[in-house]
Amino acid sequence: MSNPYLCSVLETVKRRYPGESEFHQAVTEVLESLVPVIERNKDLQEAAILERIVEPERQIIFRVPWVDDKGKVQVNRGMRIEYNSALGPYKGGLRFHPSVNTSIIKFLGFEQIFKNSLTGLMMGGGKGGADFDPKGKSDNEVMRFCQSFMTELQRHIDADTDVPAGDIGVGAREIGYMFGQYRRIRNVWHGVLTGKGLDYGGSLVRTEATGYGCVYFCDEMLKDKKTSFEGKTVVISGSGNVAIYAVEKAQQLGGKVVALSDSNGYIYDPDGIKLDIVKRLKEVERKRIGEYVKEVKTAKYTEGKGIWTIPCDIALPCATQNELDGNDAKTLVKNGVIAVAEGANMPSTPDAVKVFLEAKTSFGPGKAANAGGVATSGLEMAQNSQRLAWSFEEVDRKLHAIMVNIHDSAKAAAEEYGTPGNLVNGANIAGFVKVANVMKSNGVI
Ligand code: GLU
Repeated sequence: MSNPYLCSVLETVKRRYPGESEFHQAVTEVLESLVPVIERNKDLQEAAILERIVEPERQIIFRVPWVDDKGKVQVNRGMRIEYNSALGPYKGGLRFHPSVNTSIIKFLGFEQIFKNSLTGLMMGGGKGGADFDPKGKSDNEVMRFCQSFMTELQRHIDADTDVPAGDIGVGAREIGYMFGQYRRIRNVWHGVLTGKGLDYGGSLVRTEATGYGCVYFCDEMLKDKKTSFEGKTVVISGSGNVAIYAVEKAQQLGGKVVALSDSNGYIYDPDGIKLDIVKRLKEVERKRIGEYVKEVKTAKYTEGKGIWTIPCDIALPCATQNELDGNDAKTLVKNGVIAVAEGANMPSTPDAVKVFLEAKTSFGPGKAANAGGVATSGLEMAQNSQRLAWSFEEVDRKLHAIMVNIHDSAKAAAEEYGTPGNLVNGANIAGFVKVANVMKSNGVI
């Protein structure tokens, strides 16, 4: 990084949080994008905006004890990082996955600040979760875990303070159990969580929103290239909520999705993925994606990584952080990929991003391309405050408009600061400027 001030900010982060590689990676990327902003606006340095923005406002770490079906006491580690509240209540998901640690939750919380700012809605940034693995647990075990988790978390959150949602490992079932426990302990009913069931304050389109939003964003990138999803071959990694609804929207727009994956391996269906089968396997039966080939004989299952070796026009990484590395990116580019939009958070490594940008592949970074989920959470909060529920069409129209706007503001910021077409810089800058302005006007807090 060329700017000594930004280098010193990064050094402080590394010294203060040694070994937190995902967190360092996320901060490095944002600071690199901000070099021209810092050089043009000296007042940001005087107000120590960067030193403040990289340090979470509050970090809560707690024990989550629960009893499994065999009667054995289990202990997990829960956390909530309340990162930045300049734009509104802390907002961001909860992740339940064995890999969860402070590095992962801080990287996600940090990204969330800029992502939420980009949506144009009034939401600060935060993230939380636990190193609990819902996979293979009974419904009762998941309920007992969620109740224990919320018994501690409830004292820190509120509809106007901090509003968690889902992320990897946290879907409608987990949100339902946590909402129930919150309501029971606090004796209030308000929209303290988003991603709720439709019968108790959830918003239409919230389930679909991250996947749909990613495809809407990608569609804007394709429009800039005077093309569309129509007739394109699409590879989507993951097979969770984001991937499933990215498939649905890509298919609606005329794309042919040929692959999906999970942490065990990937499926390739040259005839196009049959989404009804995937939805049943994943959403109802909670099975692995490999089961798909038992029902669709023309499809093939391959163990391990390797999904990015499948030739495609459009790639949508929708699984998890750092799932697509420099070599994968080179393979995609060699195979003629024209657009990559990230449905997951930070799925491309810094090397991969570099390859895409150098090859002039249209590249939509996660904090812009996957903002549709949290944007629709913002719409859910608005509906809860009004005690009204909007129609599917209305929420979808608003989501679409937000994604178009995020694309356009990232594109404009990239141009304004001298790197036209670089949506990584554009998204970081556009997200940052708004938060920085509020932090300046709110004084040293
Ligand atoms: N976990 C999602 C994200 O990464 C959604 C967060 C939310 O809806 O608050 O943005």
